[in-house]
Amino acid sequence: MRTHYIRILLIVLIKTLLESGLRVTSAAGLPTLNPSPPTRARRSSLLAALCVTVTVACGCKADPATRQQPSSPAPAPRVVVLGIDAGTWDLLDGFIARGLLPNLAKLRSEGASGKLQSSEASSSPVIWTSIATGKTPEKHGITWFVRFPDGPGKPRAVDRTQRTSRTLWNILGDKGLDVAVVGWYVTWPAEQVNGRLVSDIAHYGDIDGESFPPYCLSTLAPVAESEAVAAMPAFMDFVYDPARATAGEAAQPSLDFLVYDRFVRSYSRDLFYVRATEALLNDGPLPEVLFLYLRGTDDVQHGFWKFMDPKPFGDVPPDQVEKFGKVIERYWSWIDARVGEILAHYKEPPLVLVMSDHGAGPAVGSAAVTEHRYLHLSGAHRSQGILLASGPGVRKGAVIEGASVYDVAPTLLHYLGYAVGDDMDGHALTGFFEPAIAERPVEHVATYETAAAPPPGSSATAAPRPGAAVDQKQLEHLRSLGYIE
Ligand SMILES: [Zn+2]
Repeated sequence: MRTHYIRILLIVLIKTLLESGLRVTSAAGLPTLNPSPPTRARRSSLLAALCVTVTVACGCKADPATRQQPSSPAPAPRVVVLGIDAGTWDLLDGFIARGLLPNLAKLRSEGASGKLQSSEASSSPVIWTSIATGKTPEKHGITWFVRFPDGPGKPRAVDRTQRTSRTLWNILGDKGLDVAVVGWYVTWPAEQVNGRLVSDIAHYGDIDGESFPPYCLSTLAPVAESEAVAAMPAFMDFVYDPARATAGEAAQPSLDFLVYDRFVRSYSRDLFYVRATEALLNDGPLPEVLFLYLRGTDDVQHGFWKFMDPKPFGDVPPDQVEKFGKVIERYWSWIDARVGEILAHYKEPPLVLVMSDHGAGPAVGSAAVTEHRYLHLSGAHRSQGILLASGPGVRKGAVIEGASVYDVAPTLLHYLGYAVGDDMDGHALTGFFEPAIAERPVEHVATYETAAAPPPGSSATAAPRPGAAVDQKQLEHLRSLGYIE
């Protein structure tokens, strides 16, 4: 949207220049001005307008003056880290075989893949922070969805200031790499990075600390729920009535509530971060390392599993199987298409890492939902997610055994030629790579938590509050997931 706006500005500006009698040439793609009439004043005002336009176009770039210079031992390809919640090969293998995920299929067939062992099967913010730090919750400080700084019974969502360990984007930024981080769990309030960061609650819109640099999202509006409703026919055959979309006290929450809770909110959130990523990728040089996290795949598996796979449940009406049976596969197809669009920005193939914090399966047996207000949910977490690597240096067809969420950070550090922290809890998965990388000795450093680079949570600056309305939305979401009373 923002790029579109910038394009219009540029078109209007160039048109104005042409109409004003200035000659515009397009050497190197940039308009140059013939130093002939009209007047100097007119010309400088046009130049000022051009500068304003260019400034808007560069609005999300890190300030080059404060950027650190790369200290990488050797030039490395760009890296795209895609965190996709609750992916399981149990489903994706079938979707790939049916041709529903062409982009992920290509990455998989040209790369290496395996299962990723989760640390704790139900706590996504904890696990995504372990993936980003290579450390256990005790070390990185994010141990649950909520905390109680205002006393018992008054939960607040965890935020970045509770994190006590440095992440991949902190470490790589310190090495001078240009990083971009979009929507990753527990990144609000946005911290200063060597690049750009869009925090994980930026989709609520207009809050303090939503991004770094702070003006990064100035033209990116939250996605309206109406947009998700308009997209619904591509995912399900259901006439949605928002007036009925409340949990209520009925024995079973309405289907409208299910659709609101598990599709409308999820789709709008993911679409916001996809747009934020597109805006960043359209805005100046591609980041050297991009981190993008998308969560809707977990929401839809929780909500729509029994319609896709009614057998273990036994009592799913056939008309509902008809209506909702394809939501999960279509959501993955939608995600796959977005992955394709994002990767299309890269002329040289980047290293792509795709991972999930845990897997998913039917909520039956010990995972069955028994509590009244979660009766609309039918999918549950499983302990193994997915890991996929593709791109320069990756050994095609390699199958990775025994990988855990703690291994992602050490593996990426080793790939890029940096040492692994001895205080990290995983190890570099060298089996992923071709001999030049696999056989390179893994270097070690005692820790990246140094006095010169204190952990983000130790900052003396107080965290801003997101405001009561956003607090409420976050807590409502956590309640709907069943994590808090
Ligand atoms: Zn998760």
